[in-house]
Amino acid sequence: MTPAQTHSPLFTKIAIAWICWLFDFIYLGMDEAKDYLIFTCQHLLPNGRCGNYFWRPNVCRNYPLVDYFEQPVFLPGCGFSSLPR
Ligand code: SF4
Repeated sequence: MTPAQTHSPLFTKIAIAWICWLFDFIYLGMDEAKDYLIFTCQHLLPNGRCGNYFWRPNVCRNYPLVDYFEQPVFLPGCGFSSLPR
């Protein structure tokens, strides 16, 4: 979501409900800069593994999205990293 979208209360409310319903995510809050919505997942196991790996949604399968000719952009604290080729 863009900052303009996260600053619209109605859009934010609809987006949170949609994301929670669609992906089985649980809304935790917004980051301090109010640029990102923060979610956890109902399928996240205590050991950090996915409890729904086979049926995980595309948003999980495609993370992180990589722009053409760019390095992937990771969310803060996500645990992934990349090396340039
Ligand atoms: S990979 Fe699994 S645990 Fe992680 S967000 Fe997706 S469904 Fe949830």
